[in-house]
Amino acid sequence: MSNPLYDRFFGCHAGRDAPFLILPGGGAISYAEFLAHAARIAHVLVGAGLAPGDRLAAQVEKSPDALALYAACVQAGVVFLPLNTAYTAPEARYFIEDSGARLLVCDPRAEAELREVAEGQGATLMTLGSDGSGSLADAAAQAPNVFVTAPRDEDDLAALLYTSGTTGRSKGAMLSQRNLMSNAETLTGLWRFTARDVLLHALPIFHTHGLFVATNVMLRAGGAMIFLPKFDAGELIRLMPGATALMGVPTFYTRLLDEVKFTRDIAENMRLFISGSAPLLAETHQRFEERTGHRILERYGMTETNMNTSNPYGGERRAGTVGFPLPDVELKITDPETGAEIAKGDTGIIEVRGPNVFQGYWQMPEKTADELREDGFFITGDLGRIDGDGYVHIVGRAKDLIISGGYNIYPKEIEQLLDDQPGVLESAVIGVPHPDFGETVLAIIVPQADGAPDEAALMQAVAARLARFKHPRRIIPLTALPRNTMGKVQKNVLRERYKDVFA
Ligand code: ATP
Ligand code: MG
Repeated sequence: MSNPLYDRFFGCHAGRDAPFLILPGGGAISYAEFLAHAARIAHVLVGAGLAPGDRLAAQVEKSPDALALYAACVQAGVVFLPLNTAYTAPEARYFIEDSGARLLVCDPRAEAELREVAEGQGATLMTLGSDGSGSLADAAAQAPNVFVTAPRDEDDLAALLYTSGTTGRSKGAMLSQRNLMSNAETLTGLWRFTARDVLLHALPIFHTHGLFVATNVMLRAGGAMIFLPKFDAGELIRLMPGATALMGVPTFYTRLLDEVKFTRDIAENMRLFISGSAPLLAETHQRFEERTGHRILERYGMTETNMNTSNPYGGERRAGTVGFPLPDVELKITDPETGAEIAKGDTGIIEVRGPNVFQGYWQMPEKTADELREDGFFITGDLGRIDGDGYVHIVGRAKDLIISGGYNIYPKEIEQLLDDQPGVLESAVIGVPHPDFGETVLAIIVPQADGAPDEAALMQAVAARLARFKHPRRIIPLTALPRNTMGKVQKNVLRERYKDVFA
């Protein structure tokens, strides 16, 4: 009996002394050590009564132990459910209850608050601190370092990953072993990762980007990761000369560019910078190239599908686009009303199909039926278009589309124009209720530190370029846009805050 994800991504490294995790403070954890630790944790999971298919919810700080917990779940056939460390106990309760997790692993500091949540549904609670403390760590220290891998099938669930909740309540995406393996294999080849690579890992490991894209690709390639607890521009600059690649969200890149110490020399050993999870401004792409000589490779994906598109490794990496569909992913643009494929170049809903597409939303059969077509296409909810050269452009999210007086307005078009005006650092355009038009356009701008633009000048720039129905009815300055931990702008927060401006 086999366990394909474990065998091909973890077990294949048994006995290897090569480093897997390089610790920023010095020292490293080899593949062999990592696997031995995962095996010890797997014993603890079985000892706690977990059987293959059971869910384990983990809300723990990023650490090598936390990553070994993922490996242990795969080896024991347990469905891994990582939770955003920013969630408060009342927020975490929803995920724990929704998933029916049988074991909850949390930080020792959260034990008191979460014990009642765990006990309320008959789940066991164990703790794991980033410093190696906690009841799970203590039990693992006593356990054998070899574990008989639980048999699993490619179609069995490997993870239950909740979406970021940018557009509404988070949904649990059921990901099979095949979903994870196929995507990591495709990306490893496309981005040319090998055992010689050293990835700077500064992303959280509760989200698909840091957990599956980064970690699974490196496991597949057999390379090493410099495992940082969190993003810190100074630390990245210090460690970059010893690395070959970085995967980041756009804010990593803007923050690196804010540092004068971030120079071409620092990035000399690097072969690849990848960006995703939120749109990378074309301006950031250009500034990064001017500074380092590197063109950032932008790709597009989501919790439900892992990655769908990527700019090419060898060919032109086109700023402001997310590149081409991955070799094993079909992508089409459809009419939001009819679902029919629309003419090339026109904007519509992005739909994808492939071995990466998830198995449905956990305990949400209706939502699954609404978004996952019977023929296997997943309706992503993102708006996009394909240009004449085949590059995919993300135009925004369908839920952010503004419909004013019967007209469709794409916020991105207005945002790009505002961003280009002197004195504007960035902007977010949203639709807010309006008594005459149903909805109308509101622009939020973040002024540049060294001089804010005046509203009249911005309105003039807009008037010269855009049809009247697209003009923002008001422009409101704000010191910063609300963002979540992955750097995504939370337009739902803005819509809520400004819903009464024209009421
Ligand atoms: P929810 O589904 O709960 O509203 P979410 O969609 O933000 O949250 P994730 O799965 O973390 O949760 O994010 C996926 C989304 O991120 C995509 O649907 C897309 O809108 C956005 N995204 C990812 N990569 C890019 C990119 N390169 N450019 C633009 N948007 C991107
Ligand atoms: Mg989503």
